[in-house]
Formats: sequence, C-alpha cells, structure tokens
Amino acid sequence: MNQSPPARQQMRIRKVAALPLVGDSPKGGWSAEIRPEDSIHALVVVHTDADISGFGSVFTNGQLVQAGIRVLEPLLLGENALEPDRVSEKLHQNTFWMGRGGTLTHTISGIDIALWDILGKATGLSVSRLLSGRHREHATAYCSLLMEEPARMREVVATYRAQGFRAFKIGWGPFGRAHDTRLDEAIVAAARGAAGDEAQLFVDAGASDAYWPHGFSWAKRTAEMLKDYAVGWFEEPLRPDAIEDYRELRRCSPVPIAGGEVLTRRQSFIPWLTQGALDIVQPDVTKVGGISEQRRIAWMAYDSGMKYVGHGWNTALGLAADLQLAAAMPDTDLVEFIGGSPYVDDILREPFALDADGRLAIPDLPGLGVAPDAERIARYTPDITPLRA
Ligand SMILES: [Mg+2]
Repeated sequence: MNQSPPARQQMRIRKVAALPLVGDSPKGGWSAEIRPEDSIHALVVVHTDADISGFGSVFTNGQLVQAGIRVLEPLLLGENALEPDRVSEKLHQNTFWMGRGGTLTHTISGIDIALWDILGKATGLSVSRLLSGRHREHATAYCSLLMEEPARMREVVATYRAQGFRAFKIGWGPFGRAHDTRLDEAIVAAARGAAGDEAQLFVDAGASDAYWPHGFSWAKRTAEMLKDYAVGWFEEPLRPDAIEDYRELRRCSPVPIAGGEVLTRRQSFIPWLTQGALDIVQPDVTKVGGISEQRRIAWMAYDSGMKYVGHGWNTALGLAADLQLAAAMPDTDLVEFIGGSPYVDDILREPFALDADGRLAIPDLPGLGVAPDAERIARYTPDITPLRA
C-alpha cells in the first residue's frame, strides 16, 4: 500500500517579538482615559526556521508584552511551532510563580494565536478547520461604540448603521456613572431609535472600570429598563468579581447577562460556569491565554448551557482569531468589532468588509487567513523591523 510522505512535523521557533501599537488608540471610555501616546495593544510575531511566520495580538500595554516575551523566550526558542496547545501549556505551567493571569498570560495569548496561525500556514488549513471544522461561513460583526449623550449617541449609531452594521453595542461613558437613570434610558432609547427595530442592540455598563458606583439593585432595575428596548444582553452590570450577585441577577433579569472580559486563564472561568453566573461568557482571546485557552472556555460554556461570544477591544489580528473561533463553535454567530479603530481597519493588506447583512466572511485560507501590511502597521508602531524574519 502506497503511503504519502509524512508532512513536516517540526518547525523551530527562531524569534518572537512584540510591536506596541501607539498614536491612534480609540478612546476606552475609562475613568482614566487612554491618551494618544498610551499603548493598549501589541502585535506579536513569531518567526520559524522555515519560511513561515505567525501573527497574534495582545490587549495590554506593549512594553509589558515586550518584557513578557523576554521572560518567556528561554522556554520558547527552539520549541516546535506546530504544537500551539502543548507549547502554550508549557509556558503557563512553568511561569506559575510569576503571577498567573497577568502580563505573562496576556503575552502567551499573542504567542498562542501566532502559533495557530503558523500551524494553519504549515498545513494549508484555516485555524477553524484545525480547531473543529466550520459551523458557519459568516459572523455578524457587532459594532462596539462608547456611550454618548443622547443626541450624539443617535448620530454615532446612525453613522455606523450607514456603514452597514446591523448589530451594535453601546457602553461605558456616562451610563450609570452620571447617577441619572433618565439619562441612561435616554441614551439607550436614542441608540435603539438610530439602530432600528430590526438591529441587535447590546448594552455594556463596563462595571470593571475603576470605582464602579452601583450594586445589585441598580443592575436589576436597569435590566428591567433595558427589556423595553429589546436589548440582547446586559454586559458587566456588576463589579467583575461579584459572582454571587451575578448569579442572582441572572435568575431575575429579563435580559440575558454577559461578562467575563477581565478574567484570564481557563481555570478562572470554572466557578462562573459551574455556578451558572452568566448567560453569555466573554473571554478575550488576546488576554485569556490565546486560542488554545479560549477554545476550552467556549466549549465549557457550551456544555454548561451558556453562550460564548468573544470579547474583542481589538486589532485586526485579534478579530481574525475571534472569527476563526466563531466558525469553530456551534452557536457563536457574533464577533465584536470596535467602531473607528485604525488598528482594526488599517493594518491588513485586505481590510475586513461587511456584507449587505452586516456580516463578515470568515476566512478559510491557511492560518488566520489574513495578511498584515507592514507599511500600514509602520504608521502605528515605533519600530517595524521585528516584523521581518
Ligand atoms: Mg465590555
């Protein structure tokens, strides 16, 4: 019997680097607002001893990612780039004493995404096919927008609706923080009016922000208000560690409850899933440990009767990872898309484009299926040389 020769089984990791993105970060709506010179995202590149490089993304300060890479390099260089899950687990297991869940976990996220990109390029398969197979070819991109005063909110949602979005999330800004329930409702009403009755609309209180002023009673009352505007989920309505209140709120809220963006490592999600504290679980693939970790959380959520929708205050590389995961899960039909971020819109050779229904086609090309554009990225990072093999 004829057997074809084995595919390449080894590809050594030769170089790993981070490129902090600076200068054009979109506002975060945080109490201490992001300044133009702040870095809140970094791209990660992994070069191999073959003619293949992979790309990832991390949602944190780029200097932290550079420092994280220096710490991880001795465990990483020379490793087999074709084994993302095993290599990422090796990094997690051997850094237990340096702060599980923090900078190193964030950094591993970008490396892991890049390794999946490499595995796909080496095998000629998209990451979604390697993860599970393709449950869908498109995902609805919900446009994430900061809350504004009602008149401005209406204009902003109308602008992105005109660009083709059919699902929206509004969050942070004055919502809850102004201690004015009429203003909160007026903002949501304005967004619903501009989005149209057919659009999906989600609301994000952003209670992981510094000194979130409200508790359970506010969250419950506000959830009841949101029901009148057919809000699809209420995100982070409570401080991020108030698991008992989340559990209780989920039981009584007339709208689904979402959260989990600040949790990292799959293990942190176990109590939230086993205790049924959320309807929609939102790990961030660029923080939580990468695709290897996100996949496990997504399946745990699925098996626990919850829905996984990735958090992505993102770059185009993070969005590309979210899309592959959406294809690979049975019920994940949404991806988060920041409205008006050049790090999403302006760093690929072929930027993502919405179809007539406000959806993105999920690439079925090798790896993440997107090609970073060095010339464009050079506008947003001080030194482009690490991109070169
Ligand atoms: Mg959020």
